[in-house]
Amino acid sequence: MVGQIEKKTKEFTPQELRKINERLEGKPPEEILRWAIDTFSPNIGMASSFGAEDVLLIDLVSRQAPAVRVFTLDTGRLHEETYELMEQVRTRYGISIETYFPAHEAVERLERGKGLYSFRESVENRRECCDIRKVEPLRRALAGLAAWITGLRRDQAVTRTETQAVEWDETNGLVKVNPLVEWTNEQVWDYVRAHNVPYNTLHDQGFPSIGCAPCTRAIQPGEDIRAGRWWWEHPEYKECGLHR
Ligand code: SF4
Repeated sequence: MVGQIEKKTKEFTPQELRKINERLEGKPPEEILRWAIDTFSPNIGMASSFGAEDVLLIDLVSRQAPAVRVFTLDTGRLHEETYELMEQVRTRYGISIETYFPAHEAVERLERGKGLYSFRESVENRRECCDIRKVEPLRRALAGLAAWITGLRRDQAVTRTETQAVEWDETNGLVKVNPLVEWTNEQVWDYVRAHNVPYNTLHDQGFPSIGCAPCTRAIQPGEDIRAGRWWWEHPEYKECGLHR
């Protein structure tokens, strides 16, 4: 068990964060989660886009602290398979999933002004759509929380290689906890199979990373696991603004 620190609701100093990360280095996800829940509960929530990592975390949390809030962003452009998985997870773990939708005025303005696929025209347009459908709803989901838990892993993308177990989320003004940061894709799938964790059937069809339907495609053997996300963009731009 990692030593506890005083419950925090404000910004950590860089020195405090460094010490926490040194203590958590090499610890299993269960222990990082335990530290986060002990430190921030009840002001902690878990973001889930229902990728394999996210459902794995729900499985872990359900064994430790079933009362942790689970929220998701329903962008309005998700795959049917993702909705089916959400429902499966809701009933399997007996949890209430807090769904956040984009502001309808913003979506109406975007679609009336630029059509349904403006995100394919430029990185700027893509970020505009992600801001409306993901970033603004996330801001509402995080309001009042001191920390949020995510399924980020270092080896997911070139944009994530520096990710730490505990980080200060400057954009949203709270702590971000990434219990799976050191895990590989293989470790994730070993856990999913060993514990019979529900997963998106799209994973069996060549989709290692799943987001909105029009911005996600299956990948070919040997391709990078994020190659199917916004495949028309350079890898360095492939973040939707939720994780800057
Ligand atoms: S992933 Fe695509 S459809 Fe979803 S919010 Fe971003 S640009 Fe829009």
